Amino acid sequence: MIPWWRRLLRREQLRPNREWQELCERLPLLEGYSGQEMDRLHALTVEFLDSKDIQGAGGLELSGGMCRLIALQACVPVLNLGLAWYRGWVQVLVYPDEFLARDEYQDEAGVVHEGSYARIGESWAYGPVILSWRHSAQDAFGGEGGNVVIHEFAHKLDVLNGGPNGMPPLHRGMRPEAWTRDFEQAYDDFLHRCERGQSLPFDEYAAADPGEFFAVVSEAFFVQPSLVRAVYPQVYAHLAQFYRQEPHARAAARQNIPPAWD
Ligand SMILES: [Zn+2]
Repeated sequence: MIPWWRRLLRREQLRPNREWQELCERLPLLEGYSGQEMDRLHALTVEFLDSKDIQGAGGLELSGGMCRLIALQACVPVLNLGLAWYRGWVQVLVYPDEFLARDEYQDEAGVVHEGSYARIGESWAYGPVILSWRHSAQDAFGGEGGNVVIHEFAHKLDVLNGGPNGMPPLHRGMRPEAWTRDFEQAYDDFLHRCERGQSLPFDEYAAADPGEFFAVVSEAFFVQPSLVRAVYPQVYAHLAQFYRQEPHARAAARQNIPPAWD
């Protein structure tokens, strides 16, 4: 439990002051945000820092600014959903760089292999989100077209209605059968592209399973929305409905290119 006076102090430090503005201006992820969206993002970030416990691991000492950068990115997917979508867990662990995680996988012959594998992020169904600080910061400032923080928090949304199957709880009026059909079609297309060695619209890791496809395409939806919309327009439309955001329209507004509905 965080004492009230510390929360107050943290809130004071987090007023949308010049430091906050300067940070936001440096993040490509936030280009095209309206003033209202920026205010909402700020309020959510404060709430996130109040309600989640972000801790350094593997010897990493976290500063307030580092926590803020992680919280801010985590709040992007729930900007129009609210923090209740991150319910049921509190901890975010941050390692300095890649970390080793125990895992097992089944090969094509059905043999199960167990070992330690290097990770840059991990999301436990009812437990913590684990992140590499180096990759979280790198992605925030432009990186290589992905965003590990959004990826791991997309998994948190996915598991709200069971396992990580690539379909989070949908809003009223959204049709699960349409979601499943369009995501399956896109996933199959992605697998074919991988098999044929064709160029891929986003990280090959999306081919791992439908849960990873949803997490990777969610990253791309926020980081490279025009690309997702061009390659998988139906998937883009479902994500826009689910996240209640239109990042392509934001990108269009700032680049003066035709909007999403043209
Ligand atoms: Zn993943």
